[in-house]
Amino acid sequence: MASYFDDHGLEDPYKARKSNYNNGRSLNPDLSHFMPREDTEDEGNFSSRFPSASGPGSNDFRRLAEMLGAFRVREEPLGDEAHQEFLDNLITQLMDEAGASGKHGPPPASKSFIRDLPFVPLKDVKRDEACIICNENFQENESKAGITKLPCKHFFDRDCIVPWLELHNNCPACRAEVPSDDPDWIKKKRDAELAKYAAEAEIDKDWMYS
Ligand SMILES: [Zn+2]
Ligand SMILES: [Zn+2]
Repeated sequence: MASYFDDHGLEDPYKARKSNYNNGRSLNPDLSHFMPREDTEDEGNFSSRFPSASGPGSNDFRRLAEMLGAFRVREEPLGDEAHQEFLDNLITQLMDEAGASGKHGPPPASKSFIRDLPFVPLKDVKRDEACIICNENFQENESKAGITKLPCKHFFDRDCIVPWLELHNNCPACRAEVPSDDPDWIKKKRDAELAKYAAEAEIDKDWMYS
């Protein structure tokens, strides 16, 4: 039988790292396996992640898909089908983006937006609130990197949302857009803004002369 990972062309993290999944509900997997990065000590510095000026490449999308695949395998026994489907959709999107080298997806969130993500203290998070990406309850499983929220008010472990934002300028849950440094995105935004002003000016003029 083809596994979920065969279907999606992914390396099966369960097979590869089976021993890490055998200790029950203590679940945070070792993300360093998926996210090799030199800059983890310097929390604010995410700029060295993509040295090439052309931005993220296929491997970056694939690596994040593998990380989400590990979350999915891990929580399968817990039977939260809605969350599994949510992860499936993100993984499918990431694999599509990996195939197209990110050309058809949204651009990365801006570096300054990622740098300035707020730190949310644990006491400000509801008891039953879980990170939308890994589905871990914040109180039960305090992440070392801390908790943050997007302007749409969705909460995430920073470890979980930053890799997503480095590839997409939106919330993975509600798809609300956040700023990007991508010149095409900035131009599109500005054009839309100008069109809106022009339409409003037109309405004012109609009102004045009617
Ligand atoms: Zn998380
Ligand atoms: Zn959201």
